[in-house]
Amino acid sequence: MPAAALYSLVKRILHFLFPRTCFACGCDLPWDACVFLCDSCEKGLKAAGPLICQRCGVTLTSGGAHCYNCRGSKVKTYKCSLIRSSFAFNASSRGLIHALKYSGADYLAQEMGKRMAVNFCKYPELAAAEIVMPVPLFPSRRRKRGYNQSALLARAFTKEMGLCVDEISLVRTRNTRSQTKLGRKDRLENMTGAFLCRHPNNVKGKVILLLDDVATTGATLEGCAAALKAAGAKKVFAYTFARE
Ligand SMILES: [Zn+2]
Ligand SMILES: [Zn+2]
Repeated sequence: MPAAALYSLVKRILHFLFPRTCFACGCDLPWDACVFLCDSCEKGLKAAGPLICQRCGVTLTSGGAHCYNCRGSKVKTYKCSLIRSSFAFNASSRGLIHALKYSGADYLAQEMGKRMAVNFCKYPELAAAEIVMPVPLFPSRRRKRGYNQSALLARAFTKEMGLCVDEISLVRTRNTRSQTKLGRKDRLENMTGAFLCRHPNNVKGKVILLLDDVATTGATLEGCAAALKAAGAKKVFAYTFARE
């Protein structure tokens, strides 16, 4: 039997034993699929916008350059000066993020990080970034999950981009409570002082690009940026897979 036929037979048997399903809607994928989403969920992966806040990247429903939270003099108060994302947070992007974070599908990071690299060129305002840093998890949470999903995304992303990744300088010093039930103000307070830069020499005068799976209020990114700026970083940008 030729190798290609044998390969196809093995794939069909594997598919019969362990049928693969779409990570977003759960429908069956064809046996020869080399994707993680069905066609319609794949089409559902859309960029945020078209109009986005020039600071935090949130989709704007009406005109203007900034959202309510970034408007006027408020824009200068943020330590994280730009947030941009590959995709809007919807059923398709949520399916991938949830599988990556909560179902142990760490292998998804490879493809997701690659997609982030492809979409990165849409944001020339981030091009000055010199060092990529994943948002760290608190050590006990990282141990429980077995990996930090942001670090996996950062590795895949930087491999494509040829940028340096630094996974050691920024640490989470407090096991912050889950943010899902907190409002915007509480989220910001929850993240204040939750991060520390242990190697200021690595960040001094540098433009840092924080990387995370999703940005919601931007509170986590702001907490990281505050620690990096306090350690002497010149500028802090953030780039996420999805934007709520
Ligand atoms: Zn689907
Ligand atoms: Zn904004």
